[in-house]
Amino acid sequence: MEPPKFIVIGGGVAGLIAAQTLEAAGHAPVLLEAADAVGGRLRTDEVDGFRLDRGFQVLLTQYPEVKRYLDLRALGVEKFRPGAHVHTRQQHFRFADPLREPAQLFRSALSPVGTLQDKIRLAQLGFKVMRLTPEECFTGFDEQSTIDYLWEYGFSEQIVERFFRPFFGGIFVEQKLLTPAAMFRFILKMFAQGDAVLPAEGIEAIPKQLAGKLARTEIRLGTRVRALTDDTVTLDDGSTLEARAVIVACAPDALFPQLAGTVRAWRSTTNLYYYSTRRLKENRLINLVADPTSTINTFCVLDEVAPTYKQQGQGGSLISVSLKACPDTDSIAQVEQDLLRHSRLPNDALRLLKRYDIEHALPELDAVSYSYQATQSRLIDRVFLAGDQQLNGSLDAAMRSGRLAAEGALRT
Ligand SMILES: Cc1cc2nc3c(=O)[nH]c(=O)nc-3n(C[C@H](O)[C@H](O)[C@H](O)COP(=O)(O)OP(=O)(O)OC[C@H]3O[C@@H](n4cnc5c(N)ncnc54)[C@H](O)[C@@H]3O)c2cc1C
Repeated sequence: MEPPKFIVIGGGVAGLIAAQTLEAAGHAPVLLEAADAVGGRLRTDEVDGFRLDRGFQVLLTQYPEVKRYLDLRALGVEKFRPGAHVHTRQQHFRFADPLREPAQLFRSALSPVGTLQDKIRLAQLGFKVMRLTPEECFTGFDEQSTIDYLWEYGFSEQIVERFFRPFFGGIFVEQKLLTPAAMFRFILKMFAQGDAVLPAEGIEAIPKQLAGKLARTEIRLGTRVRALTDDTVTLDDGSTLEARAVIVACAPDALFPQLAGTVRAWRSTTNLYYYSTRRLKENRLINLVADPTSTINTFCVLDEVAPTYKQQGQGGSLISVSLKACPDTDSIAQVEQDLLRHSRLPNDALRLLKRYDIEHALPELDAVSYSYQATQSRLIDRVFLAGDQQLNGSLDAAMRSGRLAAEGALRT
């Protein structure tokens, strides 16, 4: 048999888009994936009739690469409502997003999330980023941290602690908001102009849809790559493969020791799923916990947003809880106490369905960028790099990096 011209290592969204780009150019790549399914960080389990994503995440419909590659209608996406419920130590209130729901302007102005000045500044900032291109959101803002940007913009401590820290801390998977302001501006733009959604069949439906479009790619699951030289891929079983070009669509430092340190560290998170026998009504809003004594950062009632996350006819609610830090097993009881307090559910309402400790959620990068020339994805002669760590920690970046790596490889 003729050796494949192109090999893709890793079947996350970056690898799947790389394969799709190679197919579009008339090739039949081989995709090697260590796990038992494609998807990487986008996986969903079925537990007791519930769909549980491995870590709470949302799909932003405004991401440029999502618009390019995903069929949102076929995914049957269901929308979160813009805005949030905020829980402080003493108060529970709703913060409506006046940019997305102008009818809620009055409610928004009165909300104790921040001062009136804060809300005016937030609206101004929203309009500002809407006028910028995604590239412009990044340009010149990759060194300043999000928190410094917010202080410099004049936001008060009240809105930082009650809104920005829990909301963006959840998205960046870090509470200090040290993520570059470039990312903050880009994500704010995505929220201002599009929706946060969940696919009806869980987050894994995204890679499944992408894999379903591959007609000529040979996907080899359960196939871990152990080593890679310029044109030879060595698998865990010792066998080797050669190719015209190889796209590494996974964290490359394990294969190339000289790349150690590209990803400074990985941000981890803990996500717990609870079934509540009592129905919890949150109007499809995310709940932000702005209470420093709580273990919880955000929680939401998933089946309100996407009813297909629980079996038809099943009563009660499916609650996803994201924590501020990874707790030890003993403090799980504290999480439950905190959830009961914030949700005001009765004591016996909750049953823990599953806990996910995700060690590698997002890469911590020295620099973030929106894009680069396809040729810049070349590592050495025939090896090209893809994966969110190449640009910034997001689904959008992962998809773009896969396309650019394939375009670079096609020039070999
Ligand atoms: C809890 C959580 C929340 C998130 N929230 C959001 C969000 O709200 N919005 C957003 O935009 N992004 C979010 N992300 C990030 C987003 O999921 C990732 O940016 C994206 O999925 C990364 O895709 P990837 O293809 O670059 O990498 P991965 O998905 O990590 O894929 C890499 C693949 O390579 C395989 N692999 C690794 N080593 C080998 C080897 N040696 N041989 C063969 N195969 C190998 C792995 O098994 C994996 O399938 C979140 C991530 C997590 C975990």
